[in-house]
Amino acid sequence: MRRGPFESGEKVLLIDPKGRKYLLTLRPHDKFSTHLGTIPHGQIIGSDEGAVLRASGGAAFVAFRPTFAEYALKMKRGAQVLYPKDIATVLIWGDIFPGATVVEGGGGSGALTIALLQAVGEKGQVVTYEVREDFLRQARTNVEAFLGKVPHWVPKLKDIYEGIEEASVDRVVLDLPEGWQAVQHASQALRPGGLLVAFFPTVPQVQTMTEAIESEPRIRLQEVFEMVQRPWQVKGPSVRPALRMVAHTGFFVVARRLSVG
Ligand code: SAH
Repeated sequence: MRRGPFESGEKVLLIDPKGRKYLLTLRPHDKFSTHLGTIPHGQIIGSDEGAVLRASGGAAFVAFRPTFAEYALKMKRGAQVLYPKDIATVLIWGDIFPGATVVEGGGGSGALTIALLQAVGEKGQVVTYEVREDFLRQARTNVEAFLGKVPHWVPKLKDIYEGIEEASVDRVVLDLPEGWQAVQHASQALRPGGLLVAFFPTVPQVQTMTEAIESEPRIRLQEVFEMVQRPWQVKGPSVRPALRMVAHTGFFVVARRLSVG
């Protein structure tokens, strides 16, 4: 994470008076333009985070470095990314800790990957299985644009349903359509006490997943739940739930490796 004044080449988030967010990469000779006017990048470079900048039309924009959640929602996507609330849930219910070895399947656009890499730190390792080469390339671009070079990341162009090559791993995290096809491999790869966290958008997927877990003697089902985030509007006396929300994303299935077998 960078501190100090904005420098050329880094990403900045501009927020307009209505709260709309724009992600841009600072280049000395570029200009940011919207219907509210333009701001030369040169005016942002060298200023501090939180600077209020006037666009040519007079509107005030605020400049910050994007948080991880802001970046994840704005970055270029191959596959649909997990929402920040669900990424937060994976980190805590999956008990992702500094130094952990985590196997992830699939990689998608790399949003969850970034969060896992940050949580395990340089002494940990994240191994990401992804079957689509174009997605893996996009994930790498997204990961490196946010974190720089990450030697503790091992991306693999491989089908996780075919097997997990790693052994004694601390955590397995699944965000792919048929996670149950990886249950046996995950049970094999996890160390005793290791955790498996899987995310699914639909009920039949959860059902098939829990059946697969229950028929696998090396792991035990711990819990199934969803996580709902309800945004509120706070504008003067109008304090109430926002009119729109993301009503559904998916369900979490958590299981734990036993010491048998
Ligand atoms: N968590 C990711 C999104 C994952 S989308 C993010 O936050 O960005 C699901 C991904 O799983 C897709 O990229 C898909 O190509 C990949 N996938 C599907 N089946 C797979 C398999 N058998 N092995 C590895 N990856 C797989």
